[in-house]
Amino acid sequence: MRFTKITASIGPKCEDKKTLKQMIAAGVNMCRLNFSHDTGDTQGKKIDLIRKISSELHTPVAVMIDLQGPKHRIGNFATEDKYSLTPGQKFTFDSDPTPGDGTRVQLPDADVMKSLHVGDRILLNDGKIEMTVDSVSPDKIVATVVRGNEIWSRRGFNLPDTEIDTPVLTAKDRADLEYAITKEPDWVAISFVQRPEDIAEVRDFITARTSHPIKIIAKIERPHAVERITDIAAAADGIMIARGDLAVEVPFDHVPAISRHIIRECRKMNKPVIMATQMLGTMVNSEFPTRAEITDVANAAYLRADSTMTSEETTIGINPVNVIETMDKILSYADGDAIANPFDWSRVENIPENDWSRSVASMAYLNRASAIVVFARDTTAAMQISCRKPDIPIVAVCSERVIANQLCLLRGVFPVYDTDLFAQRDAFNSARKFGVTSGKLVIVDDDKISLRTLD
Ligand code: PEP
Repeated sequence: MRFTKITASIGPKCEDKKTLKQMIAAGVNMCRLNFSHDTGDTQGKKIDLIRKISSELHTPVAVMIDLQGPKHRIGNFATEDKYSLTPGQKFTFDSDPTPGDGTRVQLPDADVMKSLHVGDRILLNDGKIEMTVDSVSPDKIVATVVRGNEIWSRRGFNLPDTEIDTPVLTAKDRADLEYAITKEPDWVAISFVQRPEDIAEVRDFITARTSHPIKIIAKIERPHAVERITDIAAAADGIMIARGDLAVEVPFDHVPAISRHIIRECRKMNKPVIMATQMLGTMVNSEFPTRAEITDVANAAYLRADSTMTSEETTIGINPVNVIETMDKILSYADGDAIANPFDWSRVENIPENDWSRSVASMAYLNRASAIVVFARDTTAAMQISCRKPDIPIVAVCSERVIANQLCLLRGVFPVYDTDLFAQRDAFNSARKFGVTSGKLVIVDDDKISLRTLD
């Protein structure tokens, strides 16, 4: 039983039924549909396909839609696609849609300008170009080039020092979410979150349109979100460490320490955490991961992240099924080792000793239980016990399909949607479904906690 889950980004190289089914059979627990690329019915058909495969394979699979968020890009250039830059030269961003040249270019989201201050850094093209702001007016920013020698059309525009005063949902996100809600996704991921209020904005948007219990993942990719991680984790239902943009917006050497900090805070707040981006990046073009990638994936398991994530290696890679098999193999081995040698993972000191989920985990540990069986009316109990990282499988018997799907993301939680097992409170057969055939079971049924020997 693999404890660390796999989230796979779905794209052109893996959205046919045969490949997707092989990937799910190989161990995908959650599919990520990135609305930065496709939208509307194109994504809707993928959701239908995932649901179909999940039912054919009799295995719950979560669907997470990932909204593009306020990702800023510069406009196009005139004759050339790229222009040379010299450190020390001035460069202007303005609201004029005329194609740019070596001295200026349009910034289509002119709203951003009102948030900038003199001295703020501007990073372009994944941080390869750095500028500092000399002056700002409502429709123009003049900056000085500090680093970088070429500027290209449509490159990303990151503002690591600036808290941007625009809603977290852009007009495109609102339209995408409006559509996605009709397809009842299990999770929605929000990009470029800066504050806990951003989560409230999205939650209000969702609850005004549906009673389906869609859960929200906050993507942490801005320094402002890192500073407020505890409040954001409290407001959201889960966190993604979006290391792609994060490594542009904070010094890249800080990313591992920030990741550990986020995982620790999420454990305290009882929220799952996904480690994302470039985990097996070279497998876009190769059948084998690098040694460093193998270690990165394994380290996510050692840190007790809930899930690792694939990006381009499954969306446009040469062999998406092989990527999942590779990730499954690395995680399974690392999970086994982490459980057998639990000496180097960050402990969470400030969970009260009388916390009920801590008591459940201790009871299971002290009794050497084979499994913890939770009768899950909602995600709360299984999620909270999972965050105590008991290193003992948590079998979650769910009365609703959406609960089983959502719990797919949680480390060490093995959900089953079965209304009969749930109605009969049949802990023994529930455990047997996952190959647990002997030993003690800790059984959690609302506020009743009991210990029984499987026979
Ligand atoms: C990231 O930046 O790491 C990420 C997951 O976000 P996206 O792929 O949407 O840019």
